[in-house]
Amino acid sequence: MSISENIRSFSSVLKNTPAQLIAVSKTYPAEAVLEAYQTGQRAFGENKVQEIVPKYETLPKDIQWHLIGHLQTNKVKYIAPFVHLIHAVDSFKLLKEINKEGGKNNRVIQVLLQLYIADEETKFGLTFEEAEALLTSDALNELPHIKITGFMGMATNTEAEEKIRQEFRRLKNFFDHCRTTYQAENIALQELSMGMSSDYTIALEEGSTMVRIGSRIFGKRN
Ligand SMILES: *Cc1c(COP(=O)(O)O)cnc(C)c1O
Repeated sequence: MSISENIRSFSSVLKNTPAQLIAVSKTYPAEAVLEAYQTGQRAFGENKVQEIVPKYETLPKDIQWHLIGHLQTNKVKYIAPFVHLIHAVDSFKLLKEINKEGGKNNRVIQVLLQLYIADEETKFGLTFEEAEALLTSDALNELPHIKITGFMGMATNTEAEEKIRQEFRRLKNFFDHCRTTYQAENIALQELSMGMSSDYTIALEEGSTMVRIGSRIFGKRN
């Protein structure tokens, strides 16, 4: 199947769900992004600053660029002028830096908190307790150039469907709790970014509003 056929098939899968497709174009060339763009896709995800910046510079300006990977504080300045949504914020220090660079660029940058839900050592993210501490901290009031619009989570990389489902469900329950409990000038929890090529069907059943799909659109990565 071609990239455009894959985009069309995802569009029809998502039509009757609240979820949006983030086409994860990391490692793929600009031409692959353009092929998806010509099918009408506008939201693209990248996991590295050094890859998202040149793509932003060369590709159409109405693309919404999502940074989905871990972000280092010292690299925020390169994406602050244009990034649409940062999916993987997992410290107050990083939020503060995004706020600072948002201010310099005269914009409010939307972010998701990355929550740790997997049964794996290597994944980044906040625990639920850490996320609640962050959402209730007074220091958040001093960050007018960020807006926390939701959460992101990655399930364990396993064939065990029921385990993946439980992890997504736990995140969705926590999201629903926080959404009704925590509201502020810079907190409006609406998005739940969960699901990738291997587990998006489960994520959709468990309430995802953004699926991040790479290989099922663009093909296997090297
Ligand atoms: C690469 C990546 C994806 C997409 O992975 P696929 O398995 O190719 O769909 C989703 N989310 C994150 C954070 C990624 O780094």
